[in-house]
Amino acid sequence: MKTELICASLLFSAMVFMPCLTYVPAIEEAHPSPAYDIIYEEPSVSVLNIYDGSVFSVPMEEYLLGVVLAEMPASFEEEALKAQSVAARTYTKGKLDSPAHENADICMAASCCQAYIYPSLYEGGEENLLKVKAAVDDTKGEIMTYENEPVLAVFHSMSAGKTEDAENVWGNSVPYLKSAESSGEESVDRFETSITISFSEFMNKVNSEGAKLSSPSDIGKPLLSDAGYVKSIIIGGKSFKGTEIRSLFSLRSAAFTITADDSLVTFSVKGFGHGVGMSQHGANVLAKEGKSYEKILKHYYKGVDIEIIR
Ligand SMILES: [Zn+2]
Repeated sequence: MKTELICASLLFSAMVFMPCLTYVPAIEEAHPSPAYDIIYEEPSVSVLNIYDGSVFSVPMEEYLLGVVLAEMPASFEEEALKAQSVAARTYTKGKLDSPAHENADICMAASCCQAYIYPSLYEGGEENLLKVKAAVDDTKGEIMTYENEPVLAVFHSMSAGKTEDAENVWGNSVPYLKSAESSGEESVDRFETSITISFSEFMNKVNSEGAKLSSPSDIGKPLLSDAGYVKSIIIGGKSFKGTEIRSLFSLRSAAFTITADDSLVTFSVKGFGHGVGMSQHGANVLAKEGKSYEKILKHYYKGVDIEIIR
């Protein structure tokens, strides 16, 4: 009787706790390269829904379907979608190793972690959903590593013709996040945008940040990085970083020029996003040229390897 009670108790515990473990059986990869002869133990990802504060756990590959659906148009080339899948999986692996939130590995805000939509709420149609799912499945378990560590797989929508060195954006040099050529994006919709505001609005904003601007002639010539993004610009005696001006005036990127007179200030901007790592539109251009997702990733992330998560 006592044994039966213990057994029943163990069974009950197993039933209660099993769903929390979200253990997924190891899947053997059927990749042709011997380097991929590794068992992939699919991890589980805890995701914070920033809209209602709830946290849910989901197996990595299922999570990535929701990420790629949210982060890249399904109309993009298959190899670009695969490159996005690997970049997103790598980024997620980094968050599993070092969670971004107190109660979750990652959240679903693009501005904080990585965009995500529930696949069941995807409105792009069954065909597109299956196309994205195939891209995730075809790269199952694959991440980018540099010297055996997962890389910081940052990406952006559209470069300004070249991608930017991470050091110029965040201040830290990262060996695999160097500037890369990214031509062919000029023909993408809204590659070049412009914003015009009144000189007084411009003056008030920069002066609230410590500048002493009173005349358009006190707007200096921007100092550009090798990739063409503004490193710094002196306005009203104060030196601003290009990224500061981008944020202050909600510019699509830090690759901008300024023209000003007594009444108006116009920003002309190229690209969209911080410019570091893979350009999503650039990846699509390379895919159209026939490049594989491995080639695309190695173009934007210098010296990385692609391997199965361990
Ligand atoms: Zn977050």
